[in-house]
Amino acid sequence: MFTFNPRNCPKCGGHPGSIVERLVVYANIEPVDGFGKPDRLGYEYGGDSEVNWNSQEPWKEDDKVSLICVDCSHRWDASMSQHYNAEDMARAIHAESLAKSEGR
Ligand SMILES: [Zn+2]
Repeated sequence: MFTFNPRNCPKCGGHPGSIVERLVVYANIEPVDGFGKPDRLGYEYGGDSEVNWNSQEPWKEDDKVSLICVDCSHRWDASMSQHYNAEDMARAIHAESLAKSEGR
């Protein structure tokens, strides 16, 4: 399980509904005859692609992920922390709200 900072949409306060991820796609290309001369052989897109689903991972910039608001579709960058159980996550959220109330 994860927590994000900032945890809510900076525009409307809504929850994140999606995380932007990326994956590798192998686009099929076909040789195009260059007037019968092998050294003039070119290529064009063949029209189909194969998605490598094992390559899917969060899109990160400056070690931050991109989140999409479930209410207004606004996109914002946030740091992402992984927690291995609910107790660990609750402790992190408590520490975060303490830091916020103390103005840190
Ligand atoms: Zn929003």
